This record gives sequence, C-alpha cells and structure tokens, in this order.
Amino acid sequence: MCLTGWAQAQGPSEAEVRALLARVEAEVEIDPRRALATARSASALARRSGDLALLREAEIEACDALALVDAPAAIAEADRGLEVARKADDSKSAAGFHSCRGYALDLHGKPAEAALEYEAAVDAAERAESKSALADALAMRGESRHYHGRYDDAIADLNRAHALTVELGLRSGQRYSLNAIANVYSDENVGEYDKAIAYYRQLLRQDQAAGFRRGEATAHFNIAAALEMKNELDAALAEYRRAMEIDTELDNRAAVAESERSIGALLTKQGKAGEALPWIDRAMARFVESGDDESIARCRLTRARALLAVGRQREAAADLGAAERHFRANANPRYLVKVYETLADVHAASGEWRQAYEASMAYRAAQTQLERRAREEQTSRLRVQFDTAKKEQENRALLIENAHRGEALRNAERVRSLQRLTILLGAALFVLLGATALQQLNRGRRLKRLAMTDELTGLPNRRGILDFLDRALNDARATGTPLAVVAFDIDHFKRINDMHGHHGGDRALRSIAEIVLRGLPEGARVGRMGGEEFLAVLPGTDEAHAHALAETLREAVSGAGFEGFAPGERVTISLGLAGAGAGEDVETLLRRADGALYRAKHEGRDRTVAG
Ligand code: GH3
Ligand code: MG
Ligand code: MG
Repeated sequence: MCLTGWAQAQGPSEAEVRALLARVEAEVEIDPRRALATARSASALARRSGDLALLREAEIEACDALALVDAPAAIAEADRGLEVARKADDSKSAAGFHSCRGYALDLHGKPAEAALEYEAAVDAAERAESKSALADALAMRGESRHYHGRYDDAIADLNRAHALTVELGLRSGQRYSLNAIANVYSDENVGEYDKAIAYYRQLLRQDQAAGFRRGEATAHFNIAAALEMKNELDAALAEYRRAMEIDTELDNRAAVAESERSIGALLTKQGKAGEALPWIDRAMARFVESGDDESIARCRLTRARALLAVGRQREAAADLGAAERHFRANANPRYLVKVYETLADVHAASGEWRQAYEASMAYRAAQTQLERRAREEQTSRLRVQFDTAKKEQENRALLIENAHRGEALRNAERVRSLQRLTILLGAALFVLLGATALQQLNRGRRLKRLAMTDELTGLPNRRGILDFLDRALNDARATGTPLAVVAFDIDHFKRINDMHGHHGGDRALRSIAEIVLRGLPEGARVGRMGGEEFLAVLPGTDEAHAHALAETLREAVSGAGFEGFAPGERVTISLGLAGAGAGEDVETLLRRADGALYRAKHEGRDRTVAG
C-alpha cells in the first residue's frame, strides 16, 4: 500500500520534470535565458522527487542552456557536475557534463580545449556502456574533429553515431549524423558538393513539409555555401538571402549575422567589395555584441579580404593580425592557411615584399601541416565511403589482384553481398535524411534537442507535441477558436509490465497509441509525454466536445483486446482534460489537465475528469 502511494506521488512529479525538460529543448533554440530558467525549475523539481538520474539529466540540460547564456559559468557548473559524477562513479552523467563543458568551451571560442572534452565524453559514455550517451558524444566529437580538419576521424565518429542511432531507432539522431556527414562532404577539403547539395535539398523539402522554419533557413544556408564553393555565385547569393530572411523573421540573430558575413564574402568575390563592407560590418557588430570570439575571428578574415579589395591594406592587416592570434591560440591550421594567404596579398599590395614573403612562407607551412594531416587520415579513401560505384570498383580491383581462382569465386560472392550492403546503405541515406537545425559546422547542437519523434510508438515525443501545442494555442488565440487538451495515463501500467514483461508493456503502449490515433479527429494530434503518459491536443474543440471525445477514446481502449493478453483482461486509461481559457498559456493549461488526470486516478481510474 505504502509503496503504491509513494509511486503515485512520484508519478506526476517525474512527468512534470520531463514536461519541463521538453520545454527546455524547445525554448533553447529561441530564448536560451528562458530555457535556462525552465531547466532550473526542472532541476529543483527533480531534486525534490529524489530521483537522482532524473536530477542529473535536468542538471545537464541546465548546463547546456547556461552555456548559451554564460559560457564560463557553464564550465564551472560542468566542473561541479563532473565532481559529483566522479564521486558517485556515474559515467553516464560524466559523459553529459563533459559534453556540456566542451559545448561551453566551443561557444567560448576555445575549440581546441572543447575537443579534449568531447574525447572525455566519448570515453565516459563507453565506460557507462550507454549507447545513447555514446551516440551523442560521438556526434559532438565528430563535428569537432571536422572543424579541426580531421576529416577521416570525423567521418568515422559520425558513422558510428549514425550506426548507433539506427540501432536505437533514433530517427532524428540519424538525420543529425547524416546531415553532419553531408557537411563533411561539403567541406572544401573534401569537395563533394553535388552530393552535399542533394542531401541538403532533401532536408529542405522535409523541413518545408514539416513547417520547420529554422531547419529551412539552415538548409538554404548550407545549399548556399555549397553553391558558393562550386562558384555558382548568383545562385548562392539568392540562397543566402533566403536564409537571412527566414532567420530575420525568427529573430535568430547569430544566424542572421552568419548570413550577412557570407553575403559580404560573396560580394567581395564578385568584385563588389564596396557593397560587401556594410554587410560585413553589420555582421561584426552582432558578433561583438554576443562576444563570440570564433565568429569575430572569421568575420575579421572576411573583412580583411574586402578591405584589401578596396585598397585599405592597413586596416586589413590589423584584422588579419587579430584573426591569426585567435586561430593560432586554437591551433587551427585550416583558418590559419586562409589568414596567411590573405596577409601575403595585403603586404604585396602595399609593396611590403619582405613581409609578403614571410606571410607566404607561413601560409605554406600551415598548408603543409593541413595536407600532412589529411594524408595521414586518408581523406580520399573515406570520401567515397558511401559511394556505391566507387566501392564496387575497389572490390573489383581486389578481385583482380587475387590470382587464385577458387578464392576469387568466394570473393565474388563477398563482393555481391558487399554491393547489396552498400546499395542498401546508399538508399538508407536518402530515406533517413530529415529535418535538422544545423548551420554550417553545426557545432553546439545536440542530437536530443532535435528529437521530435518517440521511437517506440512513432508518435511525436514530448518536444514534438508541446511544440505542436504551442503553435496550436497561438493559432487558437489569433483566430478566436477553441482548443482543448487531454492528458491521459495508462492505469496500473506497472502491473501490465509485471504480468507481461517489459516487451508486453511496450506492445500495449504501441497498441494504445494506435487506438487513440485512429480515434482522433482531423487536425488533432497525440504525443507521448514519457513513460505511459500521453497528451492529445485538440484544436477547434471546446471542452464539451473534448469530454465526449475523451470518453470515446477511453471506451475504445477499455474495449480493445491486446495481443498476448488473456481474453477478459482489460487495459484502461485515466484522462484529464482542459479547455483553453482566453489568453491562457501552455503551462497553466497543462497544469489544469494534469490536475484533472490526477483526480481521475484518485477517483478510481478508467474515467475522464475535466480540470
Ligand atoms: P497508475 O494507474 O497510478 O498510473 O499506476 P501505474 O503503475 O500505471 O503508474 P506509474 O507511473 O507508477 O508506473 C508507470 C510504469 O511504467 C513504471 C515504468 O516502469 C513503466 N514504464 C515507463 N516507460 C515504459 C516503457 O517505455 N515501456 C514499458 N514497458 N514500461 C514503461
Ligand atoms: Mg504514470
Ligand atoms: Mg500509469
């Protein structure tokens, strides 16, 4: 009795923490400060619930949000988290805090130190034997390695992250890692632009279909960058402008600045440096305002090129000097190459031949360093990793080398199965590409943030359904139409698990998702909030209609037969509903629905209560 009472008291509180964490994920893209405040509330709630794993999860989420608001503070917070994790021998949490520390260092313009944290995050996730933590850490490390010009290692990490997300059925994670792979293709040192553009266009179509504006902007930006590399400058300009328009609409200032900088760089290339400079200055002002050292350094490089083109060498040299200091401190040969190359031109334009010579020597040294690294990593071999045709050739070459006839035959068999595998892999690549919110090198984004779908049921997850609710509530407000939500929870689900095992429980979850999905009117949506708790959002439905609908759903569930269950064995749900009041926000609406659900449980379950 006591135990049941305790569990019931804990249930809503965990759901509440999870709902808050879902909000953090949605808010962090738009308003990091708000996300941080929400994450802090989630931590406080989780602490009260006494669920340590949940508390750590909330703390890591808060750390990530804090990184966006105040990177040094996030580093200190990650340090504290790591200390606690170390004492508790909790490697999974350690992985999360190492990733957060890396994320904060990245945002603080310290990519070299960040890289070390991602190494530590991968190690910790491996020690914890947590596949989800490992996928997350590998994706972060892969992107960091890409940034540092370690293409081979980057591809290896991203492939591993991809394989893990496939294994775990994390669809958005698959998209994330594949998009990151496309970004490597799009890198100038890899140069597979057409392949990259094909991926990005696919992402764009899916984002458009899903109404995911942020993703659309990102896709336009990435397409622009690839077109620019192909020297299709007019087409690239149009795509940058499109990205900038959408990001302006979304008030995403960092992304707007990045587009402005890119437009400036492109105009300079087109011989319109005078026109370019105001764009670049606008971008620079935004980067300075946000204190983003890395972007400032890159923007200085862009501005130096424009200044050089209009004959302002002295100012160009000053920008390059500052950029060099930054990239040298972060051991980044990739950008140092560009800095020295431009510096040599600047000195030459001023007739400073000695300095020009020195700069070109530095350029060559950095270039050699970069090439050596690339050779060691056998970039070219990995570049074709997903390329079926080339793979086939390789295998044929292997075959020819093999003189022994019998062995050749056996190899031929192996080649055929390899071919099938690569063809499948190639097809999977295209099918799985989907909505992601990546910009450029995508540093500082997390797999979990992008996850919108629950893997078990295929329904929208917490983030997905809350995102939908947020939009639907705004629409309802704007159009003056009603909206209702129904929170529901499977009754005595623990017993179902006890009787039928976890797999039986999972099957019941999937069946209930299907039943509810079939019973929903058009325009409505249902998502899994976590565990065995769901939320249905009913736009255009007032409370009375919602009540009738909730009762229909309840009866459909209690009347259904479940695979593997005894004929008379019933599964029931309790439902709490709330109709949105004028001007009511998501939080209070959900609280009312949760309160009603709680009452439905206490009044005996298998019933609907209005809040
Ligand atoms: P009540 O009627 O009060 O809701 O009781 P309950 O046992 O259903 O609720 P409680 O929230 O105490 O327990 C929910 C259980 O659901 C605990 C957890 O082990 C189980 N559960 C959560 N997520 C999953 C899942 O994905 N699959 C399975 N099989 N079980 C899950
Ligand atoms: Mg529950
Ligand atoms: Mg339950």
